[in-house]
Amino acid sequence: MNLLIMGPPGAGKGTQAGGIAEHYKVPAISTGQLFRDNIALGTALGRTIEGLIAAGNLVPDEVTNAMVFDRLAKPDVRKHRGFLLDGYPRTLEQAAALDAELQRLRMRLDGVIALTADPASLVSRMLKRAEIEGRADDNEETIRTRIEVYGAETAPLLTLYGERGLLIDVDADGTVDEVAQRIRSALSERLDRR
Ligand code: ADP
Repeated sequence: MNLLIMGPPGAGKGTQAGGIAEHYKVPAISTGQLFRDNIALGTALGRTIEGLIAAGNLVPDEVTNAMVFDRLAKPDVRKHRGFLLDGYPRTLEQAAALDAELQRLRMRLDGVIALTADPASLVSRMLKRAEIEGRADDNEETIRTRIEVYGAETAPLLTLYGERGLLIDVDADGTVDEVAQRIRSALSERLDRR
């Protein structure tokens, strides 16, 4: 099963990705987490991107694409015959690059989970998360930038995947369990009975 999970910052992509990946027995691959791991480890990549992430801006497409394609080449993706990409693609250019790479790998997307949320709830969720996780980009100014970048760069992908009939919209307002339940039933309706 080859899936994407999309949604504005704070919609809970990372939280929900774990459960979905477990259900379909595929690795969950989060670009944001991969970037944060690189920053924590002080790698060359981490040093290059640290400032961009702290400011809420996107990492350049070619850097992001290269990291994702490296990850898709790891044996677990082949072994479990699939993946769940969380936070990628985030620009039309990344989406085109992913199309080309999947074609090269003879894989295709099965579905794109799009979490939708009330914008007002996003900011308060992230500020609450900041107290727990201490993410450098969870402060009010950076959150605002991330939401703007999402609207300008990433939201157009919803149209693209909608036109391909891949979009699975899920309301992300509610508890973690409620949203997980909604995702599970939306996915099983769309994918399990094919
Ligand atoms: P959120 O969706 O809450 O912003 P993520 O962990 O998905 O959290 O992303 C955190 C940051 O990592 C983004 O603001 C951006 O700087 C960077 N990032 C993650 N994925 C991508 C991507 N596909 N392209 C460019 N930058 C990315």
